[in-house]
Amino acid sequence: MKQSLLFTKTSKTVSAEETSLNAQFLIKGGFVDKLSAGVYTMLPLGFRVYKKIEQIIREEINSIGGQEVFMPSLCPNENWKKTGRYEILADDILFSAESKHVKSSVLNLSHEEVVSPLLKKFVNSYQDLPQYVYHIQNKFRGEARPKSGILRGREFMMKDLYSFHATEEDLNNYYERVKISYKNIFTKAGIGDQTYLTYASGGTFSKYSHEFQTLTGAGEDYIYICDKCRVAINREILEDQKNKCPECGNNKLREEKAVEVGNIFKLSTKFSDPFDLFYIDKDNNKKAVIMGCYGIGLQRLMGTIVEVSHDIQGIIWPESVAPYRVHLISLKQDKESDKIYNNLLDAGIEVLYDDRDISFGAKFADADLIGCPYRIIVSTKTLEQDSVEFKKRTEKSSELVKKDNILKIFK
Ligand code: ATP
Ligand code: MG
Repeated sequence: MKQSLLFTKTSKTVSAEETSLNAQFLIKGGFVDKLSAGVYTMLPLGFRVYKKIEQIIREEINSIGGQEVFMPSLCPNENWKKTGRYEILADDILFSAESKHVKSSVLNLSHEEVVSPLLKKFVNSYQDLPQYVYHIQNKFRGEARPKSGILRGREFMMKDLYSFHATEEDLNNYYERVKISYKNIFTKAGIGDQTYLTYASGGTFSKYSHEFQTLTGAGEDYIYICDKCRVAINREILEDQKNKCPECGNNKLREEKAVEVGNIFKLSTKFSDPFDLFYIDKDNNKKAVIMGCYGIGLQRLMGTIVEVSHDIQGIIWPESVAPYRVHLISLKQDKESDKIYNNLLDAGIEVLYDDRDISFGAKFADADLIGCPYRIIVSTKTLEQDSVEFKKRTEKSSELVKKDNILKIFK
């Protein structure tokens, strides 16, 4: 992509109300635009990052049997009344949606009220189970005061997976598979080292649920880490746990601030009961389907990556989610740089080519802000040596590389 063609531009300043670091960098870099509190547009650079995150998640969930669907945002109130969640949430974060011809609808804040009646249409016998259904779709939540940038939006994308089982044991087995899959997702997204499987309260149906919490001062949660087991406990259940690690009993726990990037939950029959979602077992008995749900917020994950991976100049994207792998910079568009650009493209390397007619200094500042992993600088000086300057975003110094050897670096 030629940078001169991008309709977005970087900006040096950002509105004073933008207190979170992720929003400051993402807005300055031209990754996102804020429409109103908690409501963001993904701009071309940001949408590339978003789509890479989405693909990492999709591949992992497909590998544990997930079948992707796309459920609607609108849902009749009736469904939410059936589960009792309307009562609890209508006065709080649940959005209502009405028009002249449509009364009594909500904008889903999660999809149990859609997916449970959906599965009822297809599940009859034990032979129809288990099922794993997911989508990556908009959620609407009237969050009180979203001050954490894209970590907490009022409209945001979530991967939500729902599993349907004949037995508790089958749910438990699948739940463990999702744990591993989540671990893979956060590792691939570059925050594996900072992310902890965290015990949280389980609601009525199981002792615990689990959150995936990433260490950052930007988080709203406090977790207590057991370094022996590499797990953590959310502060909200710490007392019930008698301040001990649930796995080894260790009571030397370390407090950290963290953000919840994902969570997994055993729902048991909480949503199958109200929708009469049942199956007929081998002995011809009618039994309630047992459910689990598993969420990851995509903008939450994107913002978390920014919070944990940056320096004062800007973002440092992990290679797996970077908008472009290479930022090619020349003082201005010229034949030599064009040739390097085309060679990189031909080799299938994603490259952002700064061909604008502005100073090197301004270009470097933008490149630091945008945060692509590799930078190639073409100047009269380097060309005199048949070379380019090659620099990693994470390193201060650069090295000279012969023009003919550029592609080898990326092999
Ligand atoms: P939180 O505790 O942060 O309010 P939650 O427990 O309500 O989140 P869930 O309803 O289980 O979260 O949603 C699943 C995932 O969706 C969360 O783990 C988080 O990654 C993401 N998420 C939740 N709320 C938001 C939001 N307002 N903006 C962006 N992502 C969100
Ligand atoms: Mg939570």
